Amino acid sequence: MSSGGARAAEGINAVAERYAHLVLALGQHDPDYVDAFYGPAEWKTHAEKEKKSLDAIGAETAELFAILAKTPDAAASGDEMLKLRREYLQKQISALAARVRMLKGEKLRFDDESRALYDAVAPTYSDSHFDEILAQLEAKIPGKGPLWERYEKWRKPFVIPKEKLDAVFQLAVKECRARTQAHVALPPNESFNVEYVTNKPWGGYNWYKGNFHSVIQVNTDLPIYIDRAVDLAAHEGYPGHHVYNSLLEKNLVRDRGWPEFSIYPLFSPQSLVAEGTANFGREVAFPTKAERMNFEKEVLFPAAGIDGSRADEYYAVQDLMKQLNYAVNEVARRLVNGEIDEKAAVQWLQKCAVMDPKRAQQSVKFIKRYRSYVINYNLGEDMVRRYIEKRSGTDPDKRWSEFGKLLSSPRLPSDL
Ligand SMILES: [Zn+2]
Repeated sequence: MSSGGARAAEGINAVAERYAHLVLALGQHDPDYVDAFYGPAEWKTHAEKEKKSLDAIGAETAELFAILAKTPDAAASGDEMLKLRREYLQKQISALAARVRMLKGEKLRFDDESRALYDAVAPTYSDSHFDEILAQLEAKIPGKGPLWERYEKWRKPFVIPKEKLDAVFQLAVKECRARTQAHVALPPNESFNVEYVTNKPWGGYNWYKGNFHSVIQVNTDLPIYIDRAVDLAAHEGYPGHHVYNSLLEKNLVRDRGWPEFSIYPLFSPQSLVAEGTANFGREVAFPTKAERMNFEKEVLFPAAGIDGSRADEYYAVQDLMKQLNYAVNEVARRLVNGEIDEKAAVQWLQKCAVMDPKRAQQSVKFIKRYRSYVINYNLGEDMVRRYIEKRSGTDPDKRWSEFGKLLSSPRLPSDL
């Protein structure tokens, strides 16, 4: 490395370290903010002792942004990773500044908030878009009463019995892990524990602990249907969050010594890539519908004691339901913008996202707490899919290699 390159590396490492300290400082004001941290433990105790005010964090964030702009650029070396690293720090610091303003009371509109925090704006869909999908569902689930009520009755036979949930989930994890390991070099001692929890606003959560270890929590407040086994195993585990975090730790924190990746601020552009890759991971693990259906029918349905002859019928309905996921963004946008109240949001989700009242209430709870974060799931998935498909077409091996590269790099939404 030339001396100019060394100076640039030194400059940006100092910025990266200060950024990590500011994220920890903001975590003192916002318990949801620091999703993972496995850097030096004394950094965290220092933030706890210091308890920096929001004003001080805001001022230092602005200062850091200016310092980064003046830091010598090492990207001239031609290493794309260095260019991405710089952009990553810019976006993450700017999102940090936005989160500080929000905690100080600034009210952002939904799209402004998602642009500031996640570097992306979700498309808006009119009610008629959802009406077309709903009409197709109406035809598949005939009968009297509201659609959500009929849907709940119709899908009852596909609930995984509580006493079989862990066995079914572990089978899905094993398959997703084997499929991932065949294509991606996982750190040799990576692992996670699974816990079943209640009274949470989310369905599942990956808590990354560092040292290639995660704790995955599955929320059992509501019945868990058979499609969720692979969805959760791929999203939280392989090749989703657990793999993403492990590869960032291996490639960026350990091999390159980049401290900014030992911390993950939840309300930041990194979340769009995290949720987008976790959701799209299902399709990477099971590149064709036929592969997934074979596994479901041969392994998961029997393990759950569910009639496998209805698997195709069940998944045809799930494909339509998935298209309704953008309805959650619409409800969240209206709720955050103050156009509807919570009661109207629950009703709207019952109608347009075909949720029963309990599920709709859980979803509104999630929106109240995480706001525009909802776009990271559906828009994130669509952005990641477009990015990967542009590079690999439909070749499954190429798809895995591009996906693995994305999981090991500091690429953010505007680079997708
Ligand atoms: Zn997730």
